[in-house]
Amino acid sequence: MANPDTFDRISRRIEQFRDEMVDLQIRLTAIPAIAPASGGEGEAQKAEFLASFLKQHGFGDVTLIKAPDFDAPSGYRPNLLAYAKGKSSARTNWVMTHMDVVPPGELSLWKGPPYKAWVEKGRVYGRGVEDNQQDMVASIFAAKAFMAEGLLPAYDVGLALVADEETGSAKGIGHVLENHGAFRKQDLIIVPDAGNEHGTMIEVAEKSILWLKFKTLGKQAHGSTPEKGTNSFKAAAFLIAALDGLYRHFGERDRLFAPPVSTFEPTKKEANVPNINTIPGEDVFYMDCRILPKYKVADVEKRIRTVASGIEKKFRVKIEIGVEQRAPAAPPTPAQAPVVKALRKAIKAVYQREARALGIGGGTVAALFRRAGFAAACWSKLDDKAHQPNEYCVIDNMVGDAKVFAHIFLQD
Ligand SMILES: [Zn+2]
Repeated sequence: MANPDTFDRISRRIEQFRDEMVDLQIRLTAIPAIAPASGGEGEAQKAEFLASFLKQHGFGDVTLIKAPDFDAPSGYRPNLLAYAKGKSSARTNWVMTHMDVVPPGELSLWKGPPYKAWVEKGRVYGRGVEDNQQDMVASIFAAKAFMAEGLLPAYDVGLALVADEETGSAKGIGHVLENHGAFRKQDLIIVPDAGNEHGTMIEVAEKSILWLKFKTLGKQAHGSTPEKGTNSFKAAAFLIAALDGLYRHFGERDRLFAPPVSTFEPTKKEANVPNINTIPGEDVFYMDCRILPKYKVADVEKRIRTVASGIEKKFRVKIEIGVEQRAPAAPPTPAQAPVVKALRKAIKAVYQREARALGIGGGTVAALFRRAGFAAACWSKLDDKAHQPNEYCVIDNMVGDAKVFAHIFLQD
């Protein structure tokens, strides 16, 4: 167990870093690291700044792993690994954060310039300050507090600062996992890129994602003579109603997840005819399915095909089903995994709250670790302002999260 006096010392030290942490936030925000796919130049400049910052602040062994990317002016996407030595090297306690940010979006919605971070009422505002700089800065200063106090963490600390999280991670943590044996099965891996405002959600599992496009083909006709055509829109409407039966057919519940069921929702609708007096011959809508990992995605697809065939016969239409996205869930991190226990203990000590392991409907970058066989957990205390205009980071959350990481680094 972490010695309470030692943790107090480290905590006080982290408090003293508050202004330095805000300062680092402002300097990082000034180097927008936007993926080439989103119109930016990538993370090379931000990585260069961070690598020298880490070296200046006592991190040994800062490694730059370049993932080739010819769309980036630098020709690569940078991934940084930095270490702080612990008493034991039997395992490494990792915190992985990402350097890339999304574009600011509509500038008129911002109260200030997105890349010139400003402080207001205990918050730092700017693009990237919460997603994911809050916990990048927190993890750096958690480790730095040990150095400043002349103390060693129980185990080696590893910081992974990666690229390409916002556009799929292939050139970020995906590249690191494939090309470098940096991680070991016994390591604790924390990915502070999801959470809630109380810091009580430890994300350990995800649902499978299935996005489908339904194209219904009938026959166009004049609105006054429907019998001369086949109304594709009407058939599609019956199809949507029939597909609601998926909720019953795949109706099992799993309390690990919020919501605790699989969901099957019609979402996007493409325009069909532009005028009222034409029977539409073609209709397109989409569906977003989030499926509990206990079900096979293929079984859901088979069931959907069966339902569609019934509609085809009844309405004499043809229904083409296209897959827009199919992402089967990664194997969950067990709710009793060491990383979950360590987080719960630290959250209790710092925020005085009981945190709970939970599954969510969307994929997180932790899934890449889980697919590679590592029990990673996502956790952070945040207001969830990621990707929004006027994105902000609550400074108390940044400082508190640093204490949570430090508490974990002390645990033996
Ligand atoms: Zn993020």
